[in-house]
Amino acid sequence: MLQTVDVGMGCLACYELSAGIDAIEQLRELASPLRGCRVLHVNATPYGGGVAEILRSEIPVLRDLGFDAEWKIIGGDQSFFSVTKAIHNGLQGARPMLSTEERTLYLEKFQQNAESLENNYDAIFIHDPQPLPLLQFRGKGNAKWIWRCHIDTSEPNPEMWSFVAPFLGGYDAYVFTLASFVPEGLKGRHVEIIPPAIDPQSPKNMKLDRAFAAGILRWLGMNVEYPFITQVSRFDPWKDPLGVIKAFQLIKKEMPELVLALVGSMALDDPEGWEIYRQVQDAAKNDGSIRIFTNLTGVGNIEVNAFQLLSRVVIQKSLREGFGLVVSEALWKGTPVVAGKAGGIPLQLQDDNGGYLVNSVEECAERTLSILLDPRHAEAMASRGRETVCKRFLLTRLIADELRLLGSLLGLSQRSMPVAQIALPGELRDPVCGMRVDPSTGISLEVRGQKYYFCAPSCREIFERAPGRFEQSS
Ligand code: UDP
Repeated sequence: MLQTVDVGMGCLACYELSAGIDAIEQLRELASPLRGCRVLHVNATPYGGGVAEILRSEIPVLRDLGFDAEWKIIGGDQSFFSVTKAIHNGLQGARPMLSTEERTLYLEKFQQNAESLENNYDAIFIHDPQPLPLLQFRGKGNAKWIWRCHIDTSEPNPEMWSFVAPFLGGYDAYVFTLASFVPEGLKGRHVEIIPPAIDPQSPKNMKLDRAFAAGILRWLGMNVEYPFITQVSRFDPWKDPLGVIKAFQLIKKEMPELVLALVGSMALDDPEGWEIYRQVQDAAKNDGSIRIFTNLTGVGNIEVNAFQLLSRVVIQKSLREGFGLVVSEALWKGTPVVAGKAGGIPLQLQDDNGGYLVNSVEECAERTLSILLDPRHAEAMASRGRETVCKRFLLTRLIADELRLLGSLLGLSQRSMPVAQIALPGELRDPVCGMRVDPSTGISLEVRGQKYYFCAPSCREIFERAPGRFEQSS
């Protein structure tokens, strides 16, 4: 029932162009004691959403680094994925709980999935809650098991949390995007904070010539002579596409020629997407300046690239968010972003550094309009955002963090890696985002006699609002 996702061999050397030679050499060094390891990544879908996006890029690079790396997805039908989406929503705090039939259906599928899992891996990364029970059903074998949670589990619906908690036992490490996402129940276990990253060499993020990009959008039916703003995201209520439409309607009162492109995709594991798609179509039906595009009609990576590059502003009005790769994708292209202050978005974007963070439809409209009316300031702000992405959110950094983790779990890192590159216990970490921090930057705060260091002022601000929430995890 587990199915292999076929991807080829990557080209690590190609990343020198975007990430620099030091990052490539560091990766080779980190990988050298681990060469030949069999590593499996398991998630629920080969396309649609950030996890598939990352694995599609990461697996080929791991292979080029000498790993025997594989990517598999769990098998299931629409009713199974309706249940997994309900679990996903519940862990992000939504109310509805699973019926007895739904629980039974979910668990039955795992029996079949687990039977098809071979047991000769050195490490198995399980992504998100969907495949979580595989460990219990299969047994650990000789592999190290890592649960890589990409969603915001800081305030889960308690009933849903009690349902999944028994499946969390037995993992060797738990990886989250933000320290604030780590649920209470995992305190004391091996928890690592590793934010996701974008692939600068993928067709979605490679440098496109602007005229070429305009040609792509014209082919899709966009009149690129008019200014436009875009939101790119799965059709999901947490991404608030209806809120984006409302904000756009407010902006249009001041700028009638503006167009909104809503670029959305369906994912194999997200049957809810069809219902949201219908709601978005309904909300946009009387307004010719709202254009809806999907992966079903040919909007793939290059097309998304063109939208993100040529938009005056990219919106990501998320209400809850794991990380929001789309924010870094837009900033990487030098496009300013207005985004919901949710989950991992403030890691990527701070007010005036890349764009603006917003909490409401009105704020979204106001900030977007201010960028549209001042293109010079927008350009300077976006270029600061691009620098942040360059330093912190490229694929090479993500793989380096994961290799440190693998090295420490497999007992292969300490001997052969420079100490400075290993995630040492007690090293300085930002208590909010978990990134390694350099104390010389001076972004710090003293609370109850203890000094905390931060990667950016935005993390210090989050900490200042509720220090108690982070003190233990630092
Ligand atoms: N995406 C896409 N086409 C779409 C919508 C989304 O290619 O129509 C991609 C987007 O570019 C990004 C990923 O899907 O790479 C979404 O990741 P993100 O972390 O923003 O959100 P998630 O879907 O994982 O919640």
